[in-house]
Amino acid sequence: MSRRALSLASVAIGCAALLQTGDAHAFCRMTTDGGAQIGNASCVERGEPLEWADPCLSYAVDSRGSSWMSQEDINAAIDASFATWMGADCDGSPPNVIFKPLPPSTCRRAEFNTGPNVNTIAFLDPWRDPCLDTNEPGYDSNAFAVTIVWHNTNTGEILDADMMINDTEASATSAGGPYDNCPPTGCDPGSRLAPGPADLASIVTHEAGHFIGIGHSDLPDATMFASAERSSVEKRDLAQDDIDAICTIYPPGNLDLSCNETPINGLQLNCETDSQGNVILCDEPGATSSGGCSAGSTSGPANAPWGIALAVLLGLTVLRRRSRRTDARS
Ligand SMILES: [Zn+2]
Repeated sequence: MSRRALSLASVAIGCAALLQTGDAHAFCRMTTDGGAQIGNASCVERGEPLEWADPCLSYAVDSRGSSWMSQEDINAAIDASFATWMGADCDGSPPNVIFKPLPPSTCRRAEFNTGPNVNTIAFLDPWRDPCLDTNEPGYDSNAFAVTIVWHNTNTGEILDADMMINDTEASATSAGGPYDNCPPTGCDPGSRLAPGPADLASIVTHEAGHFIGIGHSDLPDATMFASAERSSVEKRDLAQDDIDAICTIYPPGNLDLSCNETPINGLQLNCETDSQGNVILCDEPGATSSGGCSAGSTSGPANAPWGIALAVLLGLTVLRRRSRRTDARS
């Protein structure tokens, strides 16, 4: 997957957001043929479902944090979001998936390397991959966040997942901050021109579902529904549909906290500079032992074909207007 293809995939997301479908079929799995998860597009069941082969997982939050919250509050919200999925009740047992927080990353690049990797969670302002050329479009401005799921395009095995959060300031026509840890009743919604805070834990809980291969549900009260009210905390708690998803994909097993959470090919927390402090160029092949930013490469581990699936949580301002129009028609 080249940088250009990554950019084009982002564009495709914006178009797909216009699609509307009716049939309710509850939770959806991301698949090798599923493309981007966006808006209310219908669930694609062709292809192999995306799934971690070893669901002992780790994540690292970029050390540069967000403009809107302290690093401590960010970490608390993110840790709680992953813990929510780990705590799902699969008929009395937890699902067979473990998420472990790592020390902070220095990595705002969505990438999968043939060398060491990190599942990074980063706040971006401007809202674009820093390795994109300046004339290429960034992520969808209506998205709160994007999770990029790198996977084997033959088997569906997930290889790496990177979560990017839109740290720009929201407007009447775009998503973004401010973010906060909202009270149980939700945050003050503010006004159309000056939106109030969005609940970070709600957004990250949704994205954490994509992180493990869950697509968009068409049940509006599910955490994995494709959109949410900006100021609401509803997505923090899993609906039965979300629980069904994780318990189906990762049924109770033998994992415990002593499991090895090292990413495929090892851990590299800093994807931007090497141990001598030199900048790692974006197009540098990642096959070297020092690691690198290899999204421009077309080879993966053992030369397996690999690609990405993007998944976004759309901002509410635009979607709400759209759904009002839909309501008016029906
Ligand atoms: Zn989503």
